[in-house]
Amino acid sequence: MPLGATEIRETFLRFFEARGHQRVASASLVPQGDPTLLFTNAGMVPFKRVFLGEESRGYTRAATSQKCMRVSGKHNDLENVGRTPRHHTFFEMLGNFSFGDYFKREAIEYAWELVTRGFGIAPERIVATVFREDDEAHELWRTGIGLPAERVIRLDEAENFWAMGDTGPCGPCSEIHVDFGPKPGCTSAVCTPACSCGRFLEIWNLVFMQYDRSPEGKLVPLPRPSIDTGAGLERLAAVIQGAPSNYDTDLFHGILARAQELAGVERGADPEQDVSLNVIADHARALTFLIGDGVLPSNEGRGYVLRRILRRAARHGALLGLEKPFLHHVADAVVDAMSSAYPELHERRAYIVDRIEREEGRFLETLANGLSLLEDEIARLRQQGGTALPGAAAFRLYDTFGFPVDLTEDVLREHGLGVDQAGFQTAMEAQRERARAAWKGSGETRVGEVHARLAAELATSFHGYETLSFTSTVRALIVGGAPCAVARAGDAVEVVVDETPFYAESGGQVGDRGEILAPGGRVEVEDAQRPTGDLVVHRGRVAQGEIRVGESAELRVDAEARAATMRNHSGTHLLHAALRRVLGPQAMQKGSLVAPDRLRFDFTHDSPLSREQILAIEDLANAWIEADAAASVRQMAYPDAIAAGAIAIFEEKYGDQVRVIAFGPYSTELCGGTHARATGEIGLLKILSESGIASGVRRIEAQTGLGALAWLRGREALLERAAGLLRVAPAELPERLERLLEERRGLERELESIRAAARGAASRDLGEAAREIGGVRVVAARVDGVDPKNLRAMVDDLRNRLGSAIVLLAAEAEGRVSVALGVTPDLLERFRAGDLVREICGVLGGKGGGRPDFAQGGGPDATRLDAAFQRLEALVGGA
Ligand code: ATP
Ligand code: MG
Repeated sequence: MPLGATEIRETFLRFFEARGHQRVASASLVPQGDPTLLFTNAGMVPFKRVFLGEESRGYTRAATSQKCMRVSGKHNDLENVGRTPRHHTFFEMLGNFSFGDYFKREAIEYAWELVTRGFGIAPERIVATVFREDDEAHELWRTGIGLPAERVIRLDEAENFWAMGDTGPCGPCSEIHVDFGPKPGCTSAVCTPACSCGRFLEIWNLVFMQYDRSPEGKLVPLPRPSIDTGAGLERLAAVIQGAPSNYDTDLFHGILARAQELAGVERGADPEQDVSLNVIADHARALTFLIGDGVLPSNEGRGYVLRRILRRAARHGALLGLEKPFLHHVADAVVDAMSSAYPELHERRAYIVDRIEREEGRFLETLANGLSLLEDEIARLRQQGGTALPGAAAFRLYDTFGFPVDLTEDVLREHGLGVDQAGFQTAMEAQRERARAAWKGSGETRVGEVHARLAAELATSFHGYETLSFTSTVRALIVGGAPCAVARAGDAVEVVVDETPFYAESGGQVGDRGEILAPGGRVEVEDAQRPTGDLVVHRGRVAQGEIRVGESAELRVDAEARAATMRNHSGTHLLHAALRRVLGPQAMQKGSLVAPDRLRFDFTHDSPLSREQILAIEDLANAWIEADAAASVRQMAYPDAIAAGAIAIFEEKYGDQVRVIAFGPYSTELCGGTHARATGEIGLLKILSESGIASGVRRIEAQTGLGALAWLRGREALLERAAGLLRVAPAELPERLERLLEERRGLERELESIRAAARGAASRDLGEAAREIGGVRVVAARVDGVDPKNLRAMVDDLRNRLGSAIVLLAAEAEGRVSVALGVTPDLLERFRAGDLVREICGVLGGKGGGRPDFAQGGGPDATRLDAAFQRLEALVGGA
């Protein structure tokens, strides 16, 4: 029995644990604090800062099985998926890492031992590639391992040199490939792993991070070279299980079985159907893991990628003849298959399945709408004698109706038509440009050069949990973006010191404000931020005198603002806990803002909260406030904290040691923020509003303590003002208003009947003014001050009154003319209201249209009204 995927994953992690590596859980697919990346696309991503030396962990060797997505940016495998046996959108990357610990020799020896002995892959099937200039790695494979010369291949920079970015850590790499023997169709003279015939499968890449590339492009050797490796679990499983493709491994077995059962097709019968089944299986995994990590469908950024993947999968379902939403059933099978390794899926199963079902349902609806729009476009194209749908129209279908262009093409082909592909691409490119611009704005700001340089030398330590004032040395001043030795009165300045009591904005809690007292001046601090690393900058203005680098200064936090912030932060924790009690654990935090004067809490939930739910949440939170539970703050290891029931926030990044805040038995959260000493300090928690901010995301705004009191007083004042206006006591307001509304409805009815009577009189007069033109009775009149609805009623009135006539009424209001025109049934053979109105509105410089018996329109030019009437006479007379 070959190893199953679960055993392969476990064997890998145990192998490295036995060699001194720390096993670290997979990070989220949403990268933390890295605005340059949409998704985690390799095992090293969560360790970037460790490799850069900006962060240290309690270990120098680590091993992971990391969730990865390759659907955007430099690594985009989306188009390959389903067509190659080896590429996925979502996959698991197994990796071992050395942070300045072991290097090339051990990395190669470990990999060789694990692949050949641990996984039992025959040594003679292995081919290693090395970077052309990396003699050291070549030598290690040749004499250290003993691979024959023809199976150690030197390749170019394109294949075997890896870099984190244009500058920074980089180095040669060495890939381990499995040889499946010559392929019949191969056209290369000498087939190597660089050939695309499919003979070789890359299973593992070992990256030797040994240089730092300077901005000028120079390679400077790193003092402590590091190792980063990545092996695709799906590919390893395929090799070990002797499967012809990743899809034939046990990882996909249950998922494909579900897809086949739903579609009623068998794999192996038709190659195109196999592609569809593979795509569905692959994409269902991606959807499940993405939603599990808090990504929701949207029109931009990550949510847009998610949406596209879902539509692509739904479209392949349609190709297999599936008509109803089905992907959620496949996702259910994904949870079955993967939740032992990723327990978060199990916990969120219902939520994931539900999101997918809704999104697919919505897409299938728009699919129908899009199809009918496309029918209209086809009719128009026919009329104009065109052969290709304009790119803009195809793009509109794609953009508004989520209509994949290949589907548009399919439908058009049935009519012998095509799509203007170039025009479509142009429209698409313009959209991408917009998306890029939007994406840029939504990320975190890039670390400024100056901050990065300072952070390399300085770390600010934080004392603000214990004290609100602290004396420290001024280490740097930044004015106008540049470091300087002194800042003077009026300067906007950033102050950096060794030690600070100021809390720098993080975890939703805003930065502290306060003041810095230097020997010769005073800085008013408006905000404290941590732009990078452990560097804290105090932002503000020199209010008086000057401040110099090297001076000793006293930092004082605004105690009142801080206390209000702490009440709000603790209030946020109670609110979070109460929400989960009332709504269930799928109400996950998506964001929060904690300021001195307000708090805001965003969470995942599908529908608006009912009044009962809001009251229940408020009641719970306030009961816990009354209980006056003391805050307890503990440091503990992350897994222990989770085991103790602490709520970890999605998309939040945690070190190995975490700070846990608990309020009695009510709330336990991982949090670095500052808090009240006991819940009683919060005083009162009042929910002010609850609203939707994005699909599936709700927002609660609330107030605590004196802020809540101020809000209640504001409400009270409003009520009193309204009661004063109506001259009643506040308690009588609703009744009084009801009566007023009833009276108003009566008055409206009365007004309407008076209007109708007036219309009747007016149309009697107009009817009498009818003229005969070429044997047809025509009324053409101006009735200013009548709105379009009443205009229509008058036209109807006149048509009935006259029996046989053409009636044109025009009214001017605010520099615009509205016209309405009716034709009685007996004249319909000769005149069409729509055609007449089009002509008349043309004269007025506007547009109009409608049915044969009635049409409406208008135009901006009231001075042309007489000309418009003459035009009508001419049209009738000339007919
Ligand atoms: P390829 O050239 O086959 O696309 P790569 O060079 O892009 O692979 P790396 O970036 O070195 O791959 O990633 C390390 C390992 O991750 C690979 O050796 C492979 O086993 C696995 N891997 C990479 N991309 C995918 C993918 N799209 N689906 C599944 N596994 C992948
Ligand atoms: Mg690749």
